[in-house]
Amino acid sequence: MIYPIVQVGHPALRTAACTLSKEEILSTNIQTLIESMTQTMHAAPGVGLAAPQIGESLQIIVMEDRAEYTQNASAEFLAERERKPFPFHVLINPKIIATKSQMREFFEGCLSVEGFVSVVPRILEITVAGLNEKGMPITIEARGWYARILQHEIDHLNKTLCIDRAKKNTTMTIDNYLHYWKDLAISEVCKRLE
Ligand code: ZN
Repeated sequence: MIYPIVQVGHPALRTAACTLSKEEILSTNIQTLIESMTQTMHAAPGVGLAAPQIGESLQIIVMEDRAEYTQNASAEFLAERERKPFPFHVLINPKIIATKSQMREFFEGCLSVEGFVSVVPRILEITVAGLNEKGMPITIEARGWYARILQHEIDHLNKTLCIDRAKKNTTMTIDNYLHYWKDLAISEVCKRLE
């Protein structure tokens, strides 16, 4: 089932999500919910979806980045963001257990803040521990865009949106981003919007 994605202002996006036990993860309800979240993410399409975005205050994330999503982006654009495809996976009860100090700033959007993007600083490299859809422990070491998506989705479980972390003055419509800002270096964007 494809769910509507709730938008900023919906209380579910401002509620801390609950962790799940292995038994709960293996229940039919949760397995069905994971299936629906996957369909909803693919239909959007998006590279990540957290359960609060469909109104469920549960610590479940689905993620996948496909080459087809970036087929119109230049190699330079993708290299700068360290964006590469990664396979579909489920992440439950995630915790960031290690970070490196380097930060990167790029424009970022959210399916729950439809039509807008902002410049959001994120940690370049993180390690995340959690459970998969079978309730088995997993550890993910991520860098670049993958690390950015992970931080974005984990934020959703802690009632934080990318606009809360956006650099001052940088939130804009996607149309205006494409028209005025897309081809500028981020450092130049931030300087002009200061
Ligand atoms: Zn989001």
